Amino acid sequence: MAGEKVLVIGSGPAGLSATKELLNMGVDVVIVEKESYLGGTPKKLKYSLLFPELRPASEVIDPLIKSADGAKKYMESIVESAKPEGKGFVVTIKDKTGKTTTEKVSAIIAASGFEHFDSRRKYEYGYGIIPNIYQISDIERMLSENKLVTTKGTPPKRVAILLCVGSRDATVGNTYCSRVCCAVSIKQAMEIKQRIPDAVVHIYYMDIRTYGLMEDKLYWRSQLEYRVGFIRGRISEFMRGPNDTVIIKGEDTMNLNRALVVPYDMVILANGMELGLGSKQVAKALGLEFEEHGFVKPLDPDRLPVQSTRKGIFLAGAITGPKTIADSITEGQAAAMKAYEYITKGVWEEPVKVEVVEH
Ligand code: SF4
Repeated sequence: MAGEKVLVIGSGPAGLSATKELLNMGVDVVIVEKESYLGGTPKKLKYSLLFPELRPASEVIDPLIKSADGAKKYMESIVESAKPEGKGFVVTIKDKTGKTTTEKVSAIIAASGFEHFDSRRKYEYGYGIIPNIYQISDIERMLSENKLVTTKGTPPKRVAILLCVGSRDATVGNTYCSRVCCAVSIKQAMEIKQRIPDAVVHIYYMDIRTYGLMEDKLYWRSQLEYRVGFIRGRISEFMRGPNDTVIIKGEDTMNLNRALVVPYDMVILANGMELGLGSKQVAKALGLEFEEHGFVKPLDPDRLPVQSTRKGIFLAGAITGPKTIADSITEGQAAAMKAYEYITKGVWEEPVKVEVVEH
């Protein structure tokens, strides 16, 4: 595809998989990445094992990073603007030192991903204030560095995981479900039990969303094989207990709304997904629209999920809502295919409104 070039913004699983497909189809790719490394959030937060197969994250991400070797890369850079020119765009790229340059591209794929909800915004949970309270993103790093210990330097023997922190919660403005945190939390519970077999691990939930084939691999396996306990409860607050323990207070909503006051060595908050400032900046620079939960709006979420509302710009991964890594990779491939059709044949589908006849 001599002369055709596609800009990919973001180098997480979605951006890298789009890059790989485009390079395979002979299209030149320019990657713009705001960090100094490729790999996105899984690399940034040092993800350990991936659910549901419990395989190392690097087994999935590292080959994708390698496959982007043939792309031109602007690291520690952001896209400032995308102006239409001819059939494509002239994009302005600015790097950390303030230097700007321009690239002429035929299409754009925005795949700049999400950020984890910052649990400090749920101040009643004491994250950042009470010792031994962590977020799932902290635990991923601790597991991958093999440093899962309490402030006393010893492995935790009693661990509580609280689901839906910053998701399904109107008090922080996020009424949606983040889709992956149930699965990540159960995976972490099993990893903790693998490393500390005599630990007691309890998961506090509203309900469990290990949809599809994950039900067996995570929900049932964690209970039957690892003896992880599930408690349907509403947790109102955490308190600092003696010897840096954490006391959780709430209600067991399954058993006559019994009051719960239980001490743990470590508490993990299952913090969900938000669009984040990086993707907001990308959406604004590209002139994209937002949907009601703050993510970027596809042209038609059912029929055209990887087309944006602006012609020639495609979307992939968590920029349009919470996604698994597998979903992000699939969307990267779909966006690459759609971008290819666009740059080679000018294909740009429009939403169709079908009149519904009422009987
Ligand atoms: S995936 Fe589970 S923990 Fe995450 S928001 Fe949905 S129900 Fe809550």
